[in-house]
Amino acid sequence: MRAFYHPDQALHSPKQFMRFGRLADPTDIPARTERLLDALANLGIEVETPPDYGRGPAAAVHPAHYLDYLETAYPRWLELPDHGPEVLPNTFPYWNGDPAKDARPPCPTDQLLAQTGYYLGDLAVPISEFTYRSALRSTHTATAAADAVMEGETLAYALCRPSGHHCRADRATGFCYMNNAAIAAQRLRTNFGKVAVLDIDAHHGDGTQEFFYRRKDVMTVSVHVDTDYYNPFFTGRPHETGHGEGEGYNLNIPLAPHSGNDTFLAGVQAGAEAIKAYGAEVLVLALGYDTHVDDPLSLVEVTTDAFRKAGEIVGSLDIPVVVVQEGGYQISVIGDCLEEFLRGTSELVRERLRLQEKR
Ligand SMILES: [Zn+2]
Repeated sequence: MRAFYHPDQALHSPKQFMRFGRLADPTDIPARTERLLDALANLGIEVETPPDYGRGPAAAVHPAHYLDYLETAYPRWLELPDHGPEVLPNTFPYWNGDPAKDARPPCPTDQLLAQTGYYLGDLAVPISEFTYRSALRSTHTATAAADAVMEGETLAYALCRPSGHHCRADRATGFCYMNNAAIAAQRLRTNFGKVAVLDIDAHHGDGTQEFFYRRKDVMTVSVHVDTDYYNPFFTGRPHETGHGEGEGYNLNIPLAPHSGNDTFLAGVQAGAEAIKAYGAEVLVLALGYDTHVDDPLSLVEVTTDAFRKAGEIVGSLDIPVVVVQEGGYQISVIGDCLEEFLRGTSELVRERLRLQEKR
C-alpha cells in the first residue's frame, strides 16, 4: 500500500464557521493531519509527497472561472475597505438545481462580493492566505494516489485536507474547495472503464454525486446520516438515482439519527453489493470519521471497531481502491479509525495474495 500527503495542506487554517447563528471555532484544524500521519506511522507506512501537478487534475472537473476565483479571492479581498480576516459571502444567489443542467455559467459580473456569493455556497468555506494552495495540494495528493493504483498498486491512501466531497464543479461548501474524490475518479477513467465512488463520511457526498449524476461510467454511492435531519439537507435521498444516461448509477443510503454500528455496516455492505453488481473495476472510497459517536458533528453512534469491519467490506470487493480522506473532527479518535480501516482493508488484500501464492 502507498500513502500520499503534502505539508502545504496544513497551511489552510480557517478561523471560523457559522453554526447555530454564531461564528464558531473551526473544526477542520491542521492538527487533524498530524493524527492521521501518526496512524500511518503506526502501520509502518512511509508517506510520499505528491508531485506538483499544477491545476491539470483539478481543471479536469472544475471550470477555469471557478479555479481563478479561488486563486485570486484573498488578495482581492485585502483591497476591500475594512475587510474581515477571511473571505466569506454575504449574498447567496438562487439556482434552480435542475439535474439536466451541468455546471453554471461564469458569474455574470466579476465584482468580488458577487463572485464570493456565487462561488462560496455557505459560511463554512472561508478563504484566507493559504486556502488555495492547500486545496490544490490536496488535489495533488488524490491524483498521486489514483496514479499509484493506475501503476498497479492495490490500495493507495490520499490524506486529503481540505476535504472535497461537498464541492460542486463551481461551488465550495462544507469545508470543501475542490472535489478530491471526483478528481481521483476522473483520473482513474484514463485506465479503467467503470469507476465507483463509495462515500462513507457522515455527510452526504452531494458534490461528488452531482459531478457524475448524468454519467454511467462513474457510479456514485453515499452512506450518510439522513439529510432530513443533517447537513447538507437538500440532497441525499433515495429517490435521487441519476439523470439521463446516469439514471440508475447513483445510490443514496441514509442512516437514521442515533444509528449504531449494525445499521452503518449494513449500509456499507449494501453499497458494496451495488458496486459489485455494477461491475466496477476500481473504487474511490471517500472516508470520513464523523459518524463516530465522539465526533463533535456526529448524529450517529458508530464506534472505532466498525471502521475495521467497513475496511473488510471494502477489501472484499476485490478491486483496487483509492482511499480519499474526507471529514472526521474528533482529534482523539480519527487516527484510530484510520488505522482500523486500513488494517481491515489491507488484511484482506494480504489474505488474497497469500492464496494466490499457494495456487
Ligand atoms: Zn462529514
